[in-house]
Amino acid sequence: MKRLILKFGGTSVGTIEKIKKVANIIKKRFSEGNEIIVIVSAMTGVTDELKKKSNLISNNFDDKELDVLLSSGEQVSCSLLSGAIIDLGLKARSWQGWQIPILTDANHTSSNIMRIKTEEISNFVSQGGIAVITGFQGVSMDNRITTLGRGGSDLSAVVIAKFFRADSCEIYTDVDGIFTTDPSINNNAKKIDKISYEEMLEMASLGAKVMQPNAVQTSMIDNIPLHVRSAFSEKSGTQIIPESEVDYKKVVTGIAYSKGNAKVSVVGVVDKPGVAADVFEPIGKNNINIDMVIQNTSLDGKKANITFTIKREDLKKTLSLIEKNKQKLNYNKITHDDKLAKVSIIGAGMQANPGVTHKMFRSLADEKINILAISTSEIKISVLIREDLTQKAVKTLHKTFGLN
Ligand code: ADP
Ligand code: ASP
Ligand code: MG
Repeated sequence: MKRLILKFGGTSVGTIEKIKKVANIIKKRFSEGNEIIVIVSAMTGVTDELKKKSNLISNNFDDKELDVLLSSGEQVSCSLLSGAIIDLGLKARSWQGWQIPILTDANHTSSNIMRIKTEEISNFVSQGGIAVITGFQGVSMDNRITTLGRGGSDLSAVVIAKFFRADSCEIYTDVDGIFTTDPSINNNAKKIDKISYEEMLEMASLGAKVMQPNAVQTSMIDNIPLHVRSAFSEKSGTQIIPESEVDYKKVVTGIAYSKGNAKVSVVGVVDKPGVAADVFEPIGKNNINIDMVIQNTSLDGKKANITFTIKREDLKKTLSLIEKNKQKLNYNKITHDDKLAKVSIIGAGMQANPGVTHKMFRSLADEKINILAISTSEIKISVLIREDLTQKAVKTLHKTFGLN
């Protein structure tokens, strides 16, 4: 008998009809002789709606209360799904994070799971019950509700698979698996049968929303293979597995993008040690993530421009932090642009193939897409471009690297 973790995303339980369908998938997997633990997200759109409500109260809504609010979406879908399974004549029960408990740190809105008590649920499933657990939520040591960051039900599934020593962890979603790029913006995207943890982690971190980056990282560290598949078709899906088990046929495996980037340039700072630290220190202390960084120096070597990218929603705060620091930084001016996107090509095959960089840049140039910033790692190259050119860039690169 195998123990399966089945995670259903918000898109898979977005309507009552879909919840009934999912209950039937669960019934089928159970009747094949498996022990079943289900993780479920909030119905699609619900978490966004709750977040909007909190913003109507305040843009600085208390993060502990935000966790109580946002986690409520999972309570609804969890009970509906559990009820639907019971209605099919099976034994099922819902659990919220705090009831198990799923213990997390107190880093509200992006907590990490530390421990999960397994006894009660293990007994329940070994006696033929189907456990349905809320994704995304946990409880801190001081008994406050926490959440794991947006898209966090993926992380719940991976960590639950680890603590319950599951034989497999299946992530059900609204597409057939991991594609060479987001199928919703490029209908030439192709499903990938096997992808390494490393490549999937880059894809997810660079914007491929189909898996939450923390979930992929945890599955990589704990070596928990994932199977991403559709809740609406029987197709075979994608295996996310160790690199040694994937044979690379292409130099580039996939293309990811993220919209909503902003670029800030601090122009004319004195070029001396410590100036970059002075620019970035207050920004970091305010928990704003810096992504790409470029520094260029004037011809006489005395002045420098420091350019960096952040998320669009952090722009206002970032500008005010730099302006507050004007006396110390002694810059000439600040410029900014907040309608930018980052487009990335990802592939472990790149390491052994020089020439990928110029091929990428040439293909964008041929489409008159200007590159505003570049960053690279061993298995990815990212460029910053105008946001309205995102789809064009993705399609062009997809073709250039033989993914169509
Ligand atoms: P869920 O509700 O199952 O958590 P998400 O909306 O979080 O689903 O993720 C699924 C979506 O991710 C797909 O509908 C697709 O548009 C998007 N996506 C982005 N990049 C990719 C990719 N490379 N492969 C598959 N889907 C992708
Ligand atoms: N409901 C949460 C969100 O929308 C968690 C998830 O869907 O995985 O972010
Ligand atoms: Mg998701």
